[in-house]
Amino acid sequence: MEKNMIPHNCDKILSKVFLALDGELTSEEEIFFLKEINQCEGCLEKYKIEKSFKEFLSMKVRKECCFETLAQNIRVKLHRNTSN
Ligand SMILES: [Zn+2]
Repeated sequence: MEKNMIPHNCDKILSKVFLALDGELTSEEEIFFLKEINQCEGCLEKYKIEKSFKEFLSMKVRKECCFETLAQNIRVKLHRNTSN
């Protein structure tokens, strides 16, 4: 049974981690990818780390984006006040 299985290749899987997180994989590839990483603790761990890092980054970006908008609003308000 085991002989027929495609040998797990960590490097190959890990090279797809970023593609998977960016949603660049086709649904077929994604199913295969998720199956593979769930069979290997090392790959799963790496995937989890990258995933939470990506989430952390997007949270940071969102915050900065909101802050920028907020700053813009304040600037507009200030401008209005001074021009009146
Ligand atoms: Zn692996």
